[in-house]
Amino acid sequence: MSTEPSEPSEPSEFSEPSEPSTTLSVVVPMYNEEDALPALVGRLRPALDAMAVRYEVVAVDDGSKDRTAELLTEFQAKWPELRIVRLRGNSGHQAALTAGLHSALGAYVASIDADLQDPPEKIPEMLDLARADGLDIVYGVRADRSTDTGFKRHTAGAYYWLVRRLVGKQVPAQAGDFRLLSRAAVEAVKAMPDQHQVYRLLVPWLGFPSGQVSYQREERVAGETKYPLSKMLRLGVDSIINFSAAPLRLATWLGVASFFGCLLMVGATLAIYLKGQTVPGWTSLFIVMLFLGGVQLICVGLLGEYIGRIYTAVQRRPTFFVGYDSHAPARNTERQA
Ligand code: UDP
Ligand code: MG
Repeated sequence: MSTEPSEPSEPSEFSEPSEPSTTLSVVVPMYNEEDALPALVGRLRPALDAMAVRYEVVAVDDGSKDRTAELLTEFQAKWPELRIVRLRGNSGHQAALTAGLHSALGAYVASIDADLQDPPEKIPEMLDLARADGLDIVYGVRADRSTDTGFKRHTAGAYYWLVRRLVGKQVPAQAGDFRLLSRAAVEAVKAMPDQHQVYRLLVPWLGFPSGQVSYQREERVAGETKYPLSKMLRLGVDSIINFSAAPLRLATWLGVASFFGCLLMVGATLAIYLKGQTVPGWTSLFIVMLFLGGVQLICVGLLGEYIGRIYTAVQRRPTFFVGYDSHAPARNTERQA
C-alpha cells in the first residue's frame, strides 16, 4: 500500500524521530548511478508498495557528477515517498550511509546499494523477521559470491577473515551494507562519535539482538563499480584501525626483534674486530642501517594513522555536508536551479 505524499516537514519535526509515523526508511547511497537508477526504481518501488506500511526512500546522492540528481528529481515527481538528500561533494559510501541514517525517520531503517546487487524484494522479509522475533538488526548475508570477480572474492575473503579476528566472531562473514536496523539500533549508531565509520563492523559490535536473511548477490545492473582499489584500501585501513590497536603493538614487536638482531650483529662485529679484520663490515652496517630506518618509518607511519584519527576526532568535523534535502527545506544550503 502506498501512502499519501507527506508534507515537507518543519525542522523541529525533522529533528524529533522519537515517535516515527513512518514505519520503514530505505537508505540508498548513490554515486554516479544514472545507469542503474531506472532499474532500481523499477524494482524497489513495487517491492515497497506491496508492503502494508508507511515508508520513505532516502536517496543519498553522494555528490554525483552525472545525471543522477536530475533523474532523482524526475522520479520524485511521480514517487512522493522518494526523498532526496544531496551531499556537497563525494564523501564516500560510509559517509553517505551516515547521512542517510541521520535523515531517516522510520521506526526501521534498511540500507541497500543502488546497483541492485542486493535484491529489494528481501526488504519485506527483513522487516517481517525483525518484527516477528523482536530483533534490532537483520543482516543480509550473501549466499555466495559467484557473480563477483575473482579479485573481489579473494580480497573480501581476506578482509572478513581479518576483521572477524580483530572485532570478534559476531561480525557475520559476507554481510555488507544490506541490512535493517531498528530505531534503537539507529540511535545507538548515531551516538557513536567515530569519524570514519565502518558500519559492517560497528553494527555487529553494538551487540543488539540480530538475525540474518540470506540472499543471492546479483551482478551490478548497470555502470561500473564505484569502489576503486583506493577506496577499498581506505575501507580496509579504517576497519583495522577503528577496531584495533594491534598494529601499534606490532611496532613494539618489530623493535624487540630488531634489538635481538642487533645483539647478534654486535657479537659478529666484535669477533671480526678481535681477529683484526676491521675493514670488512661495511655491507653489514649498511644493511642494518637500512633495516632499522625502514622499521622506524613503518612505525612512525602507524603512529601517524592513529594520531591523525585523534586529530580529526578532536576537530569533530562532520564527514558530510547536506546540500539539499527535498523533505527538510531548513537543511538546504545549496542554491537550486
Ligand atoms: N557509493 C557511494 N559513494 C562512493 C562510492 C560508492 O555512495 O563514493 C555507493 C554506490 O553508488 C553504491 C554503493 O555505494 O550504491 C556500493 O558501491 P558499489 O556497488 O560501486 O561497490 P561494489 O558493489 O562494487 O563493492
Ligand atoms: Mg555494487
